[in-house]
Amino acid sequence: MIHYNEIGLKGKNQPLFLRRLEANLLRATGEAGVRRVEQRSGRKADWEVIRGRLHSVFGIANFSLAERVEPDMGALKAAVGNALAGRTFRSFKVAARRAYKQFPLTSEDINRDLGAFVQAQTQAAVDLEQPELTIHVEVLPRDLYFSFGREAGSGGLPVGVSGRVVSLLSGGIDSPVAAHRLMKRGCQVVFVHFHGFPFLDATSRDKAVELAQLLTRFQYRSHLYLVPFGEIQREVVVGAPAPLRVVLYRRLMGRIAEQIARREDAKALVTGESLGQVASQTLENLAVIEEAVGMPVLRPLIGSDKEEIVQQARALQTYDISIIPDQDCCRLFVPRHPATFSSLDEVRAVESQLPIEKLVQMGLDQMEIQAFEFPEESREPGTPRVAESREG
Ligand code: ATP
Ligand code: MG
Repeated sequence: MIHYNEIGLKGKNQPLFLRRLEANLLRATGEAGVRRVEQRSGRKADWEVIRGRLHSVFGIANFSLAERVEPDMGALKAAVGNALAGRTFRSFKVAARRAYKQFPLTSEDINRDLGAFVQAQTQAAVDLEQPELTIHVEVLPRDLYFSFGREAGSGGLPVGVSGRVVSLLSGGIDSPVAAHRLMKRGCQVVFVHFHGFPFLDATSRDKAVELAQLLTRFQYRSHLYLVPFGEIQREVVVGAPAPLRVVLYRRLMGRIAEQIARREDAKALVTGESLGQVASQTLENLAVIEEAVGMPVLRPLIGSDKEEIVQQARALQTYDISIIPDQDCCRLFVPRHPATFSSLDEVRAVESQLPIEKLVQMGLDQMEIQAFEFPEESREPGTPRVAESREG
């Protein structure tokens, strides 16, 4: 038992101090055989909050709130009996799992023994097919755990195990959903948003900030790169025929995002494109766009209908932000009818007349970086997000 002193007065920063203390303690005593330092407080864990948070942790098949008892059937029955008091259900089953094979009873024995006890106490019927209540029992070497029911987790892989990707985050509905799909497959996602400010108002930029913050709850730390794109677009307009502009903008976005990916040690770009959804998303145009990028361009929504994407966006709570009207930079200097088909030769010919490298550099020089954390514990309320230096 270790008590700390001044840390008790630290308020909002307390978790930061405690984590550091914990790490230092382990460092100091690990060699002598200490495996684990546990923070215990008188505060009761808030299951409703924990439950909500667990739903946004990837890599979980299911979870439940379990109670621990001594590895003994008498103790198990007493505790289950206690926990069931006041609960009404017509049918139930016991589903025991014996991870610790030396336990004297098999899982079948436990099912029968505990089942008979519960039946006698509650008069509920045993139903192995569709029970109203399932009592899970887990047998571990030093303890038994039981829980009622299980909740499905979000599945996927733990964020971080698949490496990093750079997500092109517009203010729209699709790209946040696309980013979320990659997080679910274990990627840490870096966000990049291109905005038309000061040529246009700052709404799209503000939306990107809010979206990045929302998505950070799945990966705990994020970077958002905000790249001013209006000036770049103005230079493209001077040298490019109107129908080709959207594809040229996209190729420039891709090139700038690729440079950011290289700085962030990310291995691929992610977009919210879906085949045929708009003029720039034909197979021909997708090919021309990705030709400008020297790394894979992942498009997790390529085969999704708008309706499916909208449903996911609602579930993610990004939808309400995405539908706020904004002035997307891609509407700047864009013709009413962009080309649905662009040939690479044609695009290259136009680009050869443009200072492409200079434009990419301009974006990189002018971009701003914001950092996000979830939960936002180490930032005092009202202070700006840490703006890091551009030379990351
Ligand atoms: P979204 O709903 O994600 O905006 P969209 O249906 O509007 O997609 P487009 O406007 O063609 O489709 O954009 C296709 C993809 O290009 C987006 O999903 C996003 O990944 C990227 N993109 C478009 N505009 C921007 C921007 N201003 N900043 C960053 N990425 C962008
Ligand atoms: Mg869009």
